[in-house]
Amino acid sequence: MSEQFSPRLCFLSGGTGTPKLLRGYSTLSDNFSVIVNVAEDVWVSGNKVCPDIDSVIYAIADVIDDTKWWGVRGDTFRTYERLKEIGFDEGMMIGDIDRATHIARSEMLRRGITLTEATRRLARAVGVKEGVEVLPACEEEVSTYIKTPEGWLHFQEFWVARRGEPEVLGVEFRGIERAKITEDVRKAVEESNAVVIGPSNPITSITPILEVRGMRELLKEKFVVAVSPIVGRRAVSGPAAKLMRAVGYEVSADGVAECYSDFLDLIVVHEGDECGWRHVDTNVLMESREDEIRLAKFIIKLVESELG
Ligand code: GDP
Repeated sequence: MSEQFSPRLCFLSGGTGTPKLLRGYSTLSDNFSVIVNVAEDVWVSGNKVCPDIDSVIYAIADVIDDTKWWGVRGDTFRTYERLKEIGFDEGMMIGDIDRATHIARSEMLRRGITLTEATRRLARAVGVKEGVEVLPACEEEVSTYIKTPEGWLHFQEFWVARRGEPEVLGVEFRGIERAKITEDVRKAVEESNAVVIGPSNPITSITPILEVRGMRELLKEKFVVAVSPIVGRRAVSGPAAKLMRAVGYEVSADGVAECYSDFLDLIVVHEGDECGWRHVDTNVLMESREDEIRLAKFIIKLVESELG
């Protein structure tokens, strides 16, 4: 660990773009928190898989398989393959080491431990440092469903089984009306100097965090900076563009800023991209560890200068 930086940041994250930034950020600081989307969580073979939480803790602990940005580097798939051989296709590739995370999480939940506490224990177990808090957005189960011409599909079915191919007619977060922020989430936001909405899918990764009761009000009180997951007119990866278009947002940095318009102070856009909102530009592409660290440093400097 190199030098420590003074501002304590609270990140909002999905499972691919922001974890890249977090891997870079954790080489500079181990004093930050991350609030993670849980609306893509799904039960597989009796175990709760939290794809975004897992990617975040694996990225921060630097054990993530960064060829895919999910799962553990060097993992094997023997259980998954064997299950397929005996006629049981889980539909989602789960590595053997990764599966241990899901089993441990599910056992903790069955014993009455909260998802927040289970996440804290798993984070420590995989190597996330003491000062780093990884928090589920809420305790309640929320599930993203995508409306397609074939009917409603669970997000995992849409994205993993159907490779994001069906036309998108709408998005729904089932269970969100019961979800409320936890005390840990409240503390993480309140005790931070600034909130960073990482470059994650605004529709399926960030909106389900924002829609948790109490979240938007908390953010209105903070300095909030977003990093655009859209470069030019395209998402760097994944279905963000398709989903933004489907729910009525322009696929651009402006469209991203508009998703956060009720509390956003500043957006970081890709160099040369135009934006009608208060913005700064830099290279937001993270194609290497150096890129991740460079962008993390840029954000620290930005927050320091904004907070004066
Ligand atoms: P998911 O949970 O797997 O959908 O992951 P996220 O929502 O965290 O990340 C998906 C988003 O990350 C997509 O909208 C991508 O455009 C964005 N993304 C992926 N890699 C990068 C990158 O290197 N830079 C930026 N700015 N965005 C990225």
